[in-house]
Amino acid sequence: MTRYEPADSFETPRFSGVRTFMRLPNTQDLENADAAVVGAPFDTGATFRAGARFGPEGIRSMSHLLRRYNPSQEIGIFDHLSVIDYGDVPVVPGYIEASYESIQKGLEPIHRAGVVPIVLGGDHSIALPELRAAAAVHGPLALVQFDSHPDTWDAYFGQKHTHGTPFRRAVEEGLLRPERSIQVGMRGSIYDERDWDDARAMGFDLVPTDAVRKIGIEEIISRIRERVDDAKVYVSFDVDFVDPAFAPGTGTPEIGGFTSREAQEFVRGLAELNIVGCDVVEVYPAYDPAQVTALLAANIAHEFLSLIAIQKAGG
Ligand code: MN
Ligand code: MN
Repeated sequence: MTRYEPADSFETPRFSGVRTFMRLPNTQDLENADAAVVGAPFDTGATFRAGARFGPEGIRSMSHLLRRYNPSQEIGIFDHLSVIDYGDVPVVPGYIEASYESIQKGLEPIHRAGVVPIVLGGDHSIALPELRAAAAVHGPLALVQFDSHPDTWDAYFGQKHTHGTPFRRAVEEGLLRPERSIQVGMRGSIYDERDWDDARAMGFDLVPTDAVRKIGIEEIISRIRERVDDAKVYVSFDVDFVDPAFAPGTGTPEIGGFTSREAQEFVRGLAELNIVGCDVVEVYPAYDPAQVTALLAANIAHEFLSLIAIQKAGG
């Protein structure tokens, strides 16, 4: 079996080479892969700033800094996993439903092959075709969403598909198990006092940032783990979960958020959950001085790979 792993950084420097994720081979050979990094360069779902179409490129660029071993999790990712950079799924800029079809069609074979996709967004509207692809293979899923917004609004400008609506659509389509799902980090001004209650009425457990601050991160991690339990779970990480001081390059920033360090703690807390797919979305390189948001997103993807490696090592 071919094993795919990053180029050796003691042989060639990390700033060299074509910018695939972590200097992994760019191939669509699913037979020899355990996990696949996939770009979804789409931003037609954005309601405020635009530019997430360049997110995958920005994240891949900064991912060249990443190394093989995760000391916080005590795991050598590529001792357990063969990982590929699958490239980008095709999208049709300006046309959300055509892009949804194309993104779903691009991701489904990855799930069918038993490979775990790590999707690099893209605005958060891509979560819907991601979940359509995942649920077509795995059935309805638990969701763990880190975000300052629940993205369960009904419509924007009379349109049902935007980056503010994918999780309501996912519930309507039966792609999720809301009773096993949890949304963490909601904060900022909202349109109506009932906005968050709407998500709860759909069955989600919604934990605002204020509640995390009161209860503590460790307790919330336990709450996530109890909620998901042994369900197959999709993990969706919107970088606006993190404070704009650490993640300015995003579409709808909200102040009063978490540090990069705290974001890592949350993701590390998901070890041994049954993760079938994950994403990191809403990186806007044009608003990202010093590429700090892309660096954060690359590191979150690295934590996802670590979780998948832990699963594989344990299984
Ligand atoms: Mn979002
Ligand atoms: Mn958000």
